[in-house]
Amino acid sequence: MDSFALTNANVLTDGGFRSGLAVLVEGGRIAALAPESGLPAGIVRRDLGGGQLLPGFIDVQVNGGGGVLFNNAPTVEALRAIAAGHRRFGSTGLLPTLISDDADIMRAAVAAVRQAIAEGVPGILGIHLEGPYIAPERKGTHDAGKFRVPDAAEIEMATALDNGVTLITLAPERVPADTIRAMVARGAKVAAGHTAANYAQARAGLDAGITGFTHLYNAMTPLQGREPGVVGAALEDPHSWCGVIVDGVHVHPASLRVALAAKPRGKILLVTDAMPMVGSDDPSFDLYGETIVAKDGVVRNAAGALAGSALDMASAVRNTVGLLGLPLEEAARMASTYPARFLGIDDRRGRIAPGCVADLVLLDGALQVRETWIGGVPWQA
Ligand code: ZN
Repeated sequence: MDSFALTNANVLTDGGFRSGLAVLVEGGRIAALAPESGLPAGIVRRDLGGGQLLPGFIDVQVNGGGGVLFNNAPTVEALRAIAAGHRRFGSTGLLPTLISDDADIMRAAVAAVRQAIAEGVPGILGIHLEGPYIAPERKGTHDAGKFRVPDAAEIEMATALDNGVTLITLAPERVPADTIRAMVARGAKVAAGHTAANYAQARAGLDAGITGFTHLYNAMTPLQGREPGVVGAALEDPHSWCGVIVDGVHVHPASLRVALAAKPRGKILLVTDAMPMVGSDDPSFDLYGETIVAKDGVVRNAAGALAGSALDMASAVRNTVGLLGLPLEEAARMASTYPARFLGIDDRRGRIAPGCVADLVLLDGALQVRETWIGGVPWQA
């Protein structure tokens, strides 16, 4: 089925939701959006039953899924399991995220992602290295014993992926501005996170090329009257993107509404920060040798720190509508178009527009995932 038309859906186009419009897919790409009444005779049609057809979700922070933690298994098979686990919840593209670890694990992770992309594993867009260039004071569940400042060889290793996107989360007060510049010059996106920086240090990081903030509010210095901190720098800056975990646990809905009010539209994006239980029946996993169990959907380590989430992207979208009161159109863009822009791939992903890769998700009236397409290839939930 190389060429087909998706019909009878409410389609989220660049201009908003449209009905009566068919999405023509050819060779894995969106060939056209055309009135259903004018479809060529003989084209294969798929009736989507009046559901919501959205750009497939893009999650830039996925530690694990399908029962697998990327750190524990930096392999192509693990990436396949993680991507499949998240696809059930509408993610058609993700950055497997390695939390702070030793250089040999990082090297293996980059190699696995390169191979997965080369083999066409559905849904793998690149890699997110969250640490180890971060701050002990804001380590969260990361192992501070792994933290270090990258030298030239390490910069080269961390930015070695040549067939996908690299995102690096670091603490700008721990990493020289020239190092941030070097990472950006080598094609990486750099975000501030797990950082104890003051406002001036965060600002200097932005000036050096930081374009994102990792899980805004969590594991960073807060906004205060005389010291705006990293949160203040993030909210004030109109150019950068902020990832947020909308699970009702990591951030209070009021704080999220403050961020939405402060940032220009399009600069807040949904992430899951998901752990292996997403897309798996097993609520437990091992992290740095410690067994961690999700309780009531909340993931904490033995010390009580939040250790990622049990959130999936479809739930994040529903929470953005239900907890934050945003229309589905905006919640969906926060899960697709905006992360694609942050990663610099919105010319081909994160939108339902001619020329884009046919990465799509179909939701029903309860905003549950019914079907996804990656490169035009369907998978039904
Ligand atoms: Zn984190």
